Amino acid sequence: MNDIILVKLGEIILKGLNRRSFEQRLMDNMRKAIAKHGNFKVYCLQSTVYVEALDDNADMDGAFEALQKVFGIIKLTRAAGCEKDKDAIAKLAVEYLREDMENAHSFKVESKRSDKSFPMTSIELSQYVGGILQDAYPDTVVDVHEPELVVNIEVRDLAAYVHAAPVKGAGGMPLGSNGVAVTLLSGGIDSPVSTYMIAKRGVRLIPVHFFSFPYTSELAKEKVIELGNQLTDYCGKMTLEIVPFTHIQEEIRDKCPEEYFTLIMRRFMMRIAQRIAKSNGAKAIVTGENLGQVASQTMEAMASTQAVMDIPCIQPLIGFDKEEIITVARKIGTFDTSILPYEDCCTVFTPRHPRTRPRVAEVERAESVLDIEALVNEALEGIERVELKNE
Ligand code: ATP
Ligand code: MG
Repeated sequence: MNDIILVKLGEIILKGLNRRSFEQRLMDNMRKAIAKHGNFKVYCLQSTVYVEALDDNADMDGAFEALQKVFGIIKLTRAAGCEKDKDAIAKLAVEYLREDMENAHSFKVESKRSDKSFPMTSIELSQYVGGILQDAYPDTVVDVHEPELVVNIEVRDLAAYVHAAPVKGAGGMPLGSNGVAVTLLSGGIDSPVSTYMIAKRGVRLIPVHFFSFPYTSELAKEKVIELGNQLTDYCGKMTLEIVPFTHIQEEIRDKCPEEYFTLIMRRFMMRIAQRIAKSNGAKAIVTGENLGQVASQTMEAMASTQAVMDIPCIQPLIGFDKEEIITVARKIGTFDTSILPYEDCCTVFTPRHPRTRPRVAEVERAESVLDIEALVNEALEGIERVELKNE
């Protein structure tokens, strides 16, 4: 059967003059997302993107599923095409929608004509095809008010298409249309979600993980790589930067007052993340911080952390409840990995009584015994890079 995928664009539509480049970017992203499922042709006509298999080996089911995770798409549907003739359309509807028609108790036909030279009006075409479907499936009745099944017919430039209900797309904007940012990826529940949320806004991400071997184990690292791999469905190909963090944490533990451990550690994270950002053209740092969740997430603590930064710190989860975060984590498929019980570097040297309302100057004084620049450079030099991908 002449099976294709029709994709409706999201916010791109609003982008006026930039629209062409947005469409191009979206189509590029779509091509990358479905490449592993076979050979496809992807093209755009009348603000709908079409995906056609180029040979019989192409896996349409796989492609359809992959496209549901591509940002910039509001809805997508599988459709069958035929010549623009009322009888060809009716015959196709009867064959292509057999399962849908047999499962529904009621239906209606909705037609759209973007080819205005088609000899019937939309209403005439709907009535004609509706009549033939009714004859073919006498157990399914026409209900124009609350039908269980809506049969869609689109008469477009090149062909006519028949399809049933579309599914919801991932929404957002095409990856890459809003620049690049560094995202801090721990092994927890929150940071995969914050990463996903900013990717959804069209931002390409460079994930950075701080690793404190042997205080955190090789398994904890594997877990972060696994989370990163899972995120590539939504975020595309990424390279995880694994920063050796042990020496910095030991220096802090040995030389700084205990109540400031976490705050100083977080300032190091931000300094290093910012250096990685600047050398990769990234314009912001994304974290999974959440107001009031832990001692380092008071407004004062965040002020002391962000005092070392001169690019924005984006915290998409700042006002979320844990439950709301978990709902997203489940949806994007990272939750089960996140709850595996491996320690994070933050938890290794947790002070017994952390300062929760620090002033920036106190923290600066507490860390002033350290050779900050040398420690940052040493960590940057030791970075290990892992290509993330999803098989
Ligand atoms: P998460 O669930 O993402 O681990 P959390 O609730 O445990 O978050 P914190 O441990 O205070 O909160 O960390 C806040 C944020 O700092 C994390 O969401 C993440 O963005 C970043 N972060 C924490 N630890 C690391 C790490 N080892 N490597 C990279 N980023 C980290
Ligand atoms: Mg954590």
